[in-house]
Amino acid sequence: MQHHDPANPETPQVQVRSCIETPDYSVEDLPNALLDIASFSHMETDSDGFYRALHRVIDKLTQVDSLLIGLVDPETSQLTIPCHLNQAAQDHDYLDPDTLERRAILNLVVQSRELVHINRDDIYRIKISRGLDPEISQIPEDAIGLPLLEGNRIVGVMLLESFAKDFRYSDTEKEMMWQISAQVAKSLHQKDIIGTLMHSKANLKNDNRYLQGLLDEREEIHQRLLHNATHDALTGLPNRALFLKRLRQVIHRSRMNDQVGFAVLFVDLDRFKVVNDSLGHPVGDGLLVEVGCRLRHCVHSSALVARLGGDEFCVLLTVDTSPEVVKMVAKRILENLKQPMYLDGQRVVTSSSIGIAFGHERYETAIDVLRDADTALYQAKSLGRSNFSIFDQSMRDDAVLRMETEQALRQAVEEDQITVHYQPIVDLQTGQLVSFEALARWFHPTLGHVPASTFIPIAEEIHLISQLTGNVFEKAISQVSRWRCEFPGLNELGLNVNISPMQVESEGFVESIQDFLTGVGLPARSLKLEVTESMLLNNPKSATKVLTELHEMNVRLALDDFGTGYSSLSCLNSLPLDELKIDLSFVQNIVDDDRSDAIVQMIVALAQVMDLQVVAEGVETVEQLQILRDLGVHRGQGYLFGTPASGDSIYKQLFEANPRRNSVTDTIPFVPARFN
Ligand code: C2E
Ligand code: MG
Ligand code: MG
Repeated sequence: MQHHDPANPETPQVQVRSCIETPDYSVEDLPNALLDIASFSHMETDSDGFYRALHRVIDKLTQVDSLLIGLVDPETSQLTIPCHLNQAAQDHDYLDPDTLERRAILNLVVQSRELVHINRDDIYRIKISRGLDPEISQIPEDAIGLPLLEGNRIVGVMLLESFAKDFRYSDTEKEMMWQISAQVAKSLHQKDIIGTLMHSKANLKNDNRYLQGLLDEREEIHQRLLHNATHDALTGLPNRALFLKRLRQVIHRSRMNDQVGFAVLFVDLDRFKVVNDSLGHPVGDGLLVEVGCRLRHCVHSSALVARLGGDEFCVLLTVDTSPEVVKMVAKRILENLKQPMYLDGQRVVTSSSIGIAFGHERYETAIDVLRDADTALYQAKSLGRSNFSIFDQSMRDDAVLRMETEQALRQAVEEDQITVHYQPIVDLQTGQLVSFEALARWFHPTLGHVPASTFIPIAEEIHLISQLTGNVFEKAISQVSRWRCEFPGLNELGLNVNISPMQVESEGFVESIQDFLTGVGLPARSLKLEVTESMLLNNPKSATKVLTELHEMNVRLALDDFGTGYSSLSCLNSLPLDELKIDLSFVQNIVDDDRSDAIVQMIVALAQVMDLQVVAEGVETVEQLQILRDLGVHRGQGYLFGTPASGDSIYKQLFEANPRRNSVTDTIPFVPARFN
């Protein structure tokens, strides 16, 4: 069928094929070609590749020197030419594809939606009609234009040109190309869809990846938060919360099944604060990390090792929890933690104490178990360093008693029920009374007389010691000042007061002492502060500074309990001392034990070298006195001279010894008479 519009001279007379005609597939390759084109839409990733592949297929079916695809913009209906493959040039755009004559053919196809078959002469005429020089560019011998139809809608045009001399597209070829164009339209559409799909899939994938990334990140944060919430940041060990959770689970299991046993080992480092304060926090941190590692190595892999906080660690044993095995584990831990550690280039030696609580049906909560392990730990600590203790009910009773004592002590201090007793210190050579040591006394209506060795450490622990000793100090200083005034023979009478580390560290301690002294008119040299090594434990620098300040004010310093763990040789170097008080344990053994004798000798020699006074504590017998005098000990204190007594009682004794007040100085006996 020829399609020609005679009214329009631009329209050449061309052969147009109806798209309804039944195709006659005489070429075997057509089905494969169609399949190929269909598959290109999936395989070829870009349009360029698709067009090239299409060209190859068409080229196998027919003569095609130039293949041109035009696409109709669905919105503007404008025709664009995304592809022009030219066989002669083996490449794109050998000739300008967008020539006027081509445009004319393409437009004709778009308008007719039919196959347009056009030959060289037709094209020639078109050129002439458009005022173009027909010789200026190569004119194809034959050409067919095919609409690319998607249903009724035209989406583009396909133009095949042949430059072969006298070539004419046959009907069969046109038929095949009609089929091909239909498949091309489909493939382009599919390609479009697939492209969009691919694009959105990629986007989706990206979106998914992004979402997944967010989820992963969230999960990671969640896990991290969870880990942080249940683990100790420094050591990486489970923390208190996780420990208690696991312990609760074990308690639950053991209540369901009495075969399930467990043991909790509460591990606490001895004097960790000292390490932290003296060697610095980084070393302290390193120590805790190392302790965590060592603990893990000491126990079975099934055990849970946790850091509860500070220097407190806990181990939960659930496998083989017989007392023998658990004791063995405790010993292993103690031994292991005693071994030196090398931290930050420093050799650090520490030790630990362990409180053990075994699983028991009475336990309902994890806190109960922990509390009992802690009670046992308290007991272990009181046994000295590097010990373990197993909880038993009597400890609980002790702990309850302690709690009651704490409460009562708070009240006693608050209500000023702590009284002061005075114990004489005498010159062993002259027998003169030289000083009184003020000792705190507490009598409670139900608890009875509570020894100072019991309530002073409690007062220290519950931070009451400053207030307590401050009160003692205030009472004692005014008491001794009154005696000094009343008994002129005692106008050089001194006062010894025990002070605790916490007091020294308290704000304005030096000033308060100065105020007390000025207030009662007592010369600073008559006041002697008794300190122990514990003074240097927490903050040696500041304690030394405060004590040096006091010493510069002329206040004297005595090192109490010398020779015991509470007062060691190291204090001799760091503190501005005036006096050493030999611990009563040596004095009491001095008669029968050569070693105690030797120690006392050594202390006296040391004091001589260092120009210090020596006072013997706990002198109870004349034999002891004799030996101490012979060894050159300057002063003595003990029941032999007088037990600690109340101010009233002392006043009575002083008065009896010296009824004519303000007259005698040397009538105060020191041996064998007593003050009580
Ligand atoms: P300390 O300072 O070494 O006091 C001497 C302790 O030995 C006193 O015990 C005293 O009663 C006791 N004592 C004295 N002579 C003898 C004796 O011949 N034989 C025996 N067996 N013991 C004797 P006390 O009063 O129980 O005080 C114990 C510790 O409590 C004191 O040891 C002191 O460290 C502390 N302390 C007492 N009062 C205070 C105070 O007001 N403040 C502070 N911070 N600590 C105090
Ligand atoms: Mg003392
Ligand atoms: Mg003492």
